[in-house]
Amino acid sequence: MVSTVRAAVRVEGIVQGVGFRPFVYSLAARLGLAGWVGNDADGVFAEVEGTPESVERFLGLLETDAPPLARVARVTATTMSPNGASGFSIVASDPTGRRRALVAPDSATCDDCLAELADPADRRFGYPFINCTNCGPRFTIVTGVPYDRPQTTMASFTMCAACEVEYHDPADRRFHAQPACCPACGPRLRLLDAAGADVAGEPLAEAARRLAQGQVIAVKGLGGYHLAVDAGCEAAASALRARKHREDKPFALMAADVAAARELCEVDEVGQALLASPRRPVVLLPRRAGAPVAGAVAPGNRQLGIMLPYTPLHHLLVRETGRPIVLTSGNVSDEPIAYADADALARLAGIADAFLTHDRAIHIRTDDSVVRPLRGGAAVLRRSRGYAPEPVTVTAAFPRPVLACGAELKNTFCLAAQSRAFISHHIGDLENYQTLRSFTEGIAHFRRLFDTEPEVVAYDLHPEYLSTKYALDLDGVDLVGVQHHHAHIASCLADNDEQGPVIGVAFDGTGFGTDGTIWGGEFLLADLASFERAGHLDPVPMPGGVAAIRQPWRMAAAYLDAAYGDGLPDGLAVAQRNAGRWPEVVAMARRGINAPLTSSAGRLFDAVAALLGVRDEINYEGQAAIELEQWADASEPGAYPAAITGGSPLRVRGADLVRAAAGDLLAGAGPGAVAARFHRGMAAVITQVCGLLRERSGLGAVALSGGVFQNLLLLETVAGLLEGDGFRVLVHARVPPNDGGISLGQAAVAGARDRLGAG
Ligand code: ZN
Ligand code: ZN
Ligand code: FE
Repeated sequence: MVSTVRAAVRVEGIVQGVGFRPFVYSLAARLGLAGWVGNDADGVFAEVEGTPESVERFLGLLETDAPPLARVARVTATTMSPNGASGFSIVASDPTGRRRALVAPDSATCDDCLAELADPADRRFGYPFINCTNCGPRFTIVTGVPYDRPQTTMASFTMCAACEVEYHDPADRRFHAQPACCPACGPRLRLLDAAGADVAGEPLAEAARRLAQGQVIAVKGLGGYHLAVDAGCEAAASALRARKHREDKPFALMAADVAAARELCEVDEVGQALLASPRRPVVLLPRRAGAPVAGAVAPGNRQLGIMLPYTPLHHLLVRETGRPIVLTSGNVSDEPIAYADADALARLAGIADAFLTHDRAIHIRTDDSVVRPLRGGAAVLRRSRGYAPEPVTVTAAFPRPVLACGAELKNTFCLAAQSRAFISHHIGDLENYQTLRSFTEGIAHFRRLFDTEPEVVAYDLHPEYLSTKYALDLDGVDLVGVQHHHAHIASCLADNDEQGPVIGVAFDGTGFGTDGTIWGGEFLLADLASFERAGHLDPVPMPGGVAAIRQPWRMAAAYLDAAYGDGLPDGLAVAQRNAGRWPEVVAMARRGINAPLTSSAGRLFDAVAALLGVRDEINYEGQAAIELEQWADASEPGAYPAAITGGSPLRVRGADLVRAAAGDLLAGAGPGAVAARFHRGMAAVITQVCGLLRERSGLGAVALSGGVFQNLLLLETVAGLLEGDGFRVLVHARVPPNDGGISLGQAAVAGARDRLGAG
C-alpha cells in the first residue's frame, strides 16, 4: 500500500493579492496532491495530501517558485491524519479574526499586460488600466484588509461577465486579481480643462497634442497627480517652474524605455536594472553631454532623475507623445502632492492647462521613490511608491508594538511589531497642516492595515518637531525619546539587521543634541539601546540662525572667522560678493547673539560651497552641498588635513579644512580640485577619528548614516579608506541615510530598550 501523508501548511509574508493561491493550486495539481488552499488573517493557509515525496517537494517549491510579487517570509508545516479526499480547491477568504497578512507595494505593469496593451486583437487593447495578479496598483488603492476587491478603491466598479470568468478561473493570470477590469467595466480616462470641463476628443491623443504645444498637463498616476511637460521644451519647463514656485529643485523625467533613457543619461548595468525594476523608482544618473533636455529641467545639475513608465497610462502617454516628458509632483512649492480629484483640480488649476484623469480613486498619497546606483546596488534616497509598505525584517524582535514618529523633514513614521518594521511612504516635511494630516491619517491607516496597536511610542528629542508634539500628546503609551543621531546610527544597524555596538558616524544638517545644542557632525559609540558621544566637529556659530541655513555664505563667514580671526586674507570672492553684510555677520558670530553653535557637517559643506562660489543662497534643502559634490574633480587625489583635539569627546577642527581650501583658492587652484581635496580631507579625518575610537573601544565596525552620506563621493571615499584600514563598514541599503530613515532607527532603539526592560 502506498503511504499517504497530510500536512497543514501556513505561508506568511506578502502572499495575498499576488497570485499565490493559483500558484499553490497549479503546484498541487502538478504534484498530484489533494486538498485546498485559502487566504486567512496571517497569509495563505493550505492542506495538502499525497505521497511523502510530493508533499516534501511541494513545501520546497512554495518558496523557490513563488510568483514574482510574492515575498515569502516563512513556511510552516504540521502533519495531520490523511482523510482520503481527492481533488484540490481554492476556498474563500476568511474575513474574521486578526489581520496580519501583508499588503504588497504597487508594481509596474508586467510584460504580459504590456503585450495585451499593444495587441489590437485583445479586448484590453490600449486600455490604460490593464493589470493582473503580477502587476498593478496595490498599496495606493487598499482601504482595508484582508486584501479583497471590496477593500480597495475598485469596490465601486462591478466586473463584467468576461472579467468575472477570468477572476474565478484558477488557470487565468487574473484569478483573484482584485483591481482587474476592462474597458467594459473598469475606470475611464478623461481629459478636463483647467475649469474641470470635459475636453472633446480622445483624451490620450489630445493630452499628447497639448504637451507637444508646450502646455502643462496634470496626470493622475498611482500615488498622486504629476505635472507633465515636454522635456525638450524650454518655454514649457520654465513656465512650469514659475507656476509651481519651484526655483531650482530638479524635475524628474519619464522616458519610454531603457533605450530612450540612454539618450538622456549614462546608463550602466546597475542603472538599467534599477530603471527596469518593478518598483520603478526615479533613478539619478549622470546626464549625457548634449542630452535633449530643456535647461530648466535640472539647472546646475550634472545628473538627471529619470524613470520608466510604471502604469499602462504612462506607457500610452509617453508613446503617444513620442519623446521624454517631465513628470514632477503635482503640488505648489513644498506642499504635499495632490491625490484626491477635487483637491487636485482646485490646487493645480493655476498650474495645469488640462487634467488627464480617471475615476479610480487613490486611497493613499504615495510619492515616487528616488534611488542612486551605489557599489553595485542602490542607495535609496526616498523610499515610497513601489517599496512601501513592504516591511524591513529584523532578527531582534520588538517585545511590544512600537510606533516611531520620525523627524521633521522628509518624515516617515514606522509601525513595528514582532520582527517586522513597516516604514511608511514618504510623508514629507511636517511644516504645514496638510502634511501633518497625511501623517496622522497615515498612522491611523497603518494601524488598521497591520492590525497593530502601539504600546511604545518613540520620538525625536527636538521639542518643536510636530512629530514630537504628536507623540507627547498620546495617552496610555510608553514614550521613548531618541536622540536624532543615535536614531540615524540605529537605523543603519537595523537596515543591516545588526545590533552593534559600532562606531557610528552620523553626519547631517541638523539634529537636537542631548545638551540642547544643534548637533550634526557626530561620532558615537552606539548599540541599539544606548550611545556615547565620542567625538564631533568643533562647534561653529550659525550667524542668523535659520538664515545661515538658507544663506551658506553666512557659514563661510563663520568658518573663515574661526580659521583666520582678524587675519582674514584679502581677495576671497565670497567676502567680496557679500561685502555689505560681511562685518555685521562676523560680529554676530563672535558675539554669539542669534548665532547658535552647531557641530553640523552639513553647515561645513555649505561653508565650503559658498567659499568656492557654488552658491551663496539655496532654494531647497541641501542644494549647496549637492552642487559642491558635482563640482568636485573626482580624479584629483589631494586631501586637506584637519586637526583632532580633545580627549573625550574628540573634536575635529573643520575650520582647518576651510582654511586649506581658502589658501588653495588664493593660490590659484581651480574649484574642482579644491572641492575634491575638501571631500577627501573630510573622508581622511573621519577615518582617523574612527581609528582613535577603535583604539579606545576595541570596536572594528563603522556605521555611516545621516543626510550628508547621500553624497556618494564622500561615502565611497570614506568607505574605501575605512576598509583599507581594516574596518567593517555598514552603509544603508533598504532605507535612506537621510531623515527618511529616522523612524526605523527610533523604532529599533525603542525595541532594544524594551528588550532590556523586559529582560
Ligand atoms: Zn500584469
Ligand atoms: Zn470587464
Ligand atoms: Fe538627520
